[in-house]
Amino acid sequence: MANVPSLALNDGTSIPQLGYGVFKVPPADTERAVAEALEVGYRHIDTAAIYGNEEGVGAAVAASGLARDELFVTTKLWNDRHDGDEPHAAIRESLDRLGLERVDLYLVHWPTPAKDNYVHAWEKLIEIRDAGLTRSIGVSNHLVPHLERIVAATGVVPAVNQIELHPAYQQREITGWAAANDVRIESWGPLGQGKYDLFGAEPVAAAAAAHGKTPAQAVLRWHLQKGFIVFPKSVRRERLEENLDVFGFELSDAEMAAIDAMDPGDGSGRVSSHPDDVD
Ligand code: NAD
Repeated sequence: MANVPSLALNDGTSIPQLGYGVFKVPPADTERAVAEALEVGYRHIDTAAIYGNEEGVGAAVAASGLARDELFVTTKLWNDRHDGDEPHAAIRESLDRLGLERVDLYLVHWPTPAKDNYVHAWEKLIEIRDAGLTRSIGVSNHLVPHLERIVAATGVVPAVNQIELHPAYQQREITGWAAANDVRIESWGPLGQGKYDLFGAEPVAAAAAAHGKTPAQAVLRWHLQKGFIVFPKSVRRERLEENLDVFGFELSDAEMAAIDAMDPGDGSGRVSSHPDDVD
């Protein structure tokens, strides 16, 4: 079984650096896919209320026989539940669907800045953590001004910020802020969601060939060596195994630098929604 390292979070907890993300895993397939992921050796699952598949995650976890403290489960508060006491209702519904008494990490999924209610949502996540319904709290898709505002308002620094991040879109402003403020970065879409020719790009193909690994493994290795947390998605067992088999080799400084240079630096490498456009 793969020896996935754990990273310390700023609240004294820790997180397995590699997990399995279930965005777009159809609800009817989720129990099987997560069961396979657990069999193959994954111990960290990233889901969200909006994915519609928390029940499948919970069923696979329950059937696995694994002790609760061997597993790390993340879920997320959806955008239409930021106001009033809705976040409390939302986490209880997620926990019911997951069949858990608490999650390990609960995230504000998007800041929805047009609604100007992300500070309130963050205040509610702090209450939810203090009530013991999640061990850690964090955010997703938050830009630096959003991060600065929630910290200024509450004094509580999120444990993680989960953002779109892959070689063509490296989000250096946010990663710099996170490093300076002891916030871990989780890379979503770590393989670019298959939306551009990442695997055929010369720096990736060359690094993969040099180590006898696949391009996907080279890219995941790049994330891990940058210190990012990743949870690539696949519903195929052989890819689940491939994506976990990334701990027996190391990219050189030159290989890392060549992949670092793949971001054009103008934001054009983004493959999904901009946080300002999501509500
Ligand atoms: P990803 O970059 O992990 O890409 C997934 C695609 O890559 C799949 O279509 C799969 O077929 C392909 N793939 C996976 N392994 C492969 C391999 N070894 N070789 C070749 N192709 C392979 O994209 P993602 O699923 O969007 O991101 C991963 C996780 O991040 C999600 O499942 C979810 O948990 C999380 N996420 C979060 C947000 C957010 O707003 N917070 C948004 C999107 C995704």
